[in-house]
Amino acid sequence: MNEISARVCEAGVVGAGGAGFPTHVKFDARAEIVIVNGAECEPLLRTDQQLAAVYPSLLVEGLARAMESTGAGEGIIALKAKYQAAISALKPHLRPGMRIEILRDIYPAGDEAITIWLTTGRRVPPGGIPLNIGVVVNNVQTLINVARAMQGEPVTRRTLTVTGIVPAPITVTVPIGTPLTAVLLLAGGGPSPDVAFIDGGPVMGSLVTDLSRPVTKTTGGLIALPADHPLIRQKLSGIRSVVQTAKTVCEQCCYCTELCPRHIIGHRLSPHLIVRAANYNNIGDPELLTAALICSECGLCEIYACPVGISPRRINAALKGELRARGVKYQGTLGKEDPMAEYRLIPSLRVAQRMGLAAWYHQEASLSLDDFEPDTVALSLKQHVGAPAVPVVKQGDLVTRGMLVGEIPEGALGARVHASIDGVVSGVTPEAITVRKGGGRS
Ligand code: SF4
Ligand code: SF4
Repeated sequence: MNEISARVCEAGVVGAGGAGFPTHVKFDARAEIVIVNGAECEPLLRTDQQLAAVYPSLLVEGLARAMESTGAGEGIIALKAKYQAAISALKPHLRPGMRIEILRDIYPAGDEAITIWLTTGRRVPPGGIPLNIGVVVNNVQTLINVARAMQGEPVTRRTLTVTGIVPAPITVTVPIGTPLTAVLLLAGGGPSPDVAFIDGGPVMGSLVTDLSRPVTKTTGGLIALPADHPLIRQKLSGIRSVVQTAKTVCEQCCYCTELCPRHIIGHRLSPHLIVRAANYNNIGDPELLTAALICSECGLCEIYACPVGISPRRINAALKGELRARGVKYQGTLGKEDPMAEYRLIPSLRVAQRMGLAAWYHQEASLSLDDFEPDTVALSLKQHVGAPAVPVVKQGDLVTRGMLVGEIPEGALGARVHASIDGVVSGVTPEAITVRKGGGRS
């Protein structure tokens, strides 16, 4: 492991864009291009654009370290034209080999394979990773965490947008492990039977069933919507009813395939054929079904393309689970790019309107730089891809912010976990370490 990767590893940096892949592993590879994915294409989220505007020098420093670590000669910061504050703030900080690439305001501009295609013209092979084509992609918050790691500061904070039907939409930075209820309070909100919450973006985020759940390194946002909102009903529906709907009403119009972002860049993913195969229990060509493995679950087929309310995404996700459990790997090759690809990209606003989110699409979320601290934090030992961290503290131990509390198991893929507040360890389980504010023994 090179020196930069080692420091990134020590600080517990993981992909903050949602996946939580340990960043030091990416930094230890060789690449030609490093891309900062600042597209933030999920409607309503504001975090990355606001962080880029407030911490441009940290972001550029993180990018510079990523380029140095991977040997990349080119650094691209991918932003949408409407992120003017971020663009203006970043421009004076750019270093040789770096440039800002302005993306169209389409969904899903932030899907890694699509960001790469839009910014470089390169296409990630289906089932492959960006490194296969010499590219490493990092999220804005990840690279800010990298810059802080180089100053010896571990990851103890997470910035997230709280929006939707809350009195005061806000982008806040909180200690990792803060309960979502406390985060919601910062936006003037509280639990209510009439309100449902989504952790992350409205499309790919999951329903929050327990607001005492803690913020992790990958918590993308907290979105409050009316409990009877169609999006909430959609997320609540079980896979049986999804398949039943598909069986009853699929008219094989092919719109889901024609607009599928992965399909248009040449991945052999045809959701209309997968739906047909599932409907008639006709597996036919096995490659057809294993293509579910290369679905990004962007949801465009479900939220925008299908005229009759079917969710090819959910069918793909269910198939993916079964195929992975059986150890099946996708073997297909990259096909031709759709010559009409450019015209099949869907504006984000139209996606938001179709999802019933237009009322909140332009809603601002004020950025708070206050240093909020809850009374207790629950530090999950599995906030990342790989093996859970192993506790290195015990109940009653005093800890200070930044102190190591969870170590990567020997020889495993994983990420370290650090105390996010000063206090006393009040609980240790294989899942989480709880820290209570203050220095008194429990
Ligand atoms: S969710 Fe639908 S549109 Fe998105 S990649 Fe999968 S099949 Fe294509
Ligand atoms: S868009 Fe809907 S109706 Fe048309 S083929 Fe796809 S799943 Fe069937």
